[in-house]
Amino acid sequence: MHGDNKKYALVRELVINWYNQKGRNFPWRNTKNPYHILIGEMLLRRTTAAAVSRIYVDFINCYGTPEHLARTRESSIARSLVSIGLQSTRAKQLRQAASIIVNDYDGKIPTSLEALQSLPGVGYYIASAVKIFAFGDAIPLVDGNVIHFLSRVFEMEFSGPSDVRAWDFVAKFGGSHDSKLYWGIIDLVATTCLRQNPKCSVCPLNNVCAWYTKSSLKE
Ligand code: SF4
Repeated sequence: MHGDNKKYALVRELVINWYNQKGRNFPWRNTKNPYHILIGEMLLRRTTAAAVSRIYVDFINCYGTPEHLARTRESSIARSLVSIGLQSTRAKQLRQAASIIVNDYDGKIPTSLEALQSLPGVGYYIASAVKIFAFGDAIPLVDGNVIHFLSRVFEMEFSGPSDVRAWDFVAKFGGSHDSKLYWGIIDLVATTCLRQNPKCSVCPLNNVCAWYTKSSLKE
């Protein structure tokens, strides 16, 4: 157990150090505004960060508060989202969520997981992401990327993001749950720990990664 904790701490440190030097810079990461963070996470669902980054700033400039979004027609919101797809569904969910925030929460983003999840288009992952990135809460965050990365580094198998063992593991591994830890994992998976042909030779984890150690032994 002590050994596990030491490895967790080392992996966290390597990921965060790498993120500080090579992490990607996105506007939804440079704010503590919970509404802007919620919008970013809702747009990122089933969409690449590169695609969202092309519309995000304009979207926030147009609909800078829940009040703005709630009083805009769905068709106008959808037009702003055409380039990232699913625009009708997204526009409906964004507008409904904004209306609930205005009517039930006085225009403020709710802080509990339950209330966040009651917003249309907001599931457990997005609710958790908002709590961590906007409110600094120490809770685990699990998605396909986190599972992929941790499965390789720690040689573990999880059935998917809804596997409770994965959430339990990330709760133990995540430590202080610095936002940079999760952003670092997301960026490492996007740029280095690729599902096909990972770039292990330039990965900061290659000295501690179980998957890399095993595959090097085979060569
Ligand atoms: S060493 Fe390779 S498999 Fe391991 S985390 Fe880095 S890129 Fe992924």
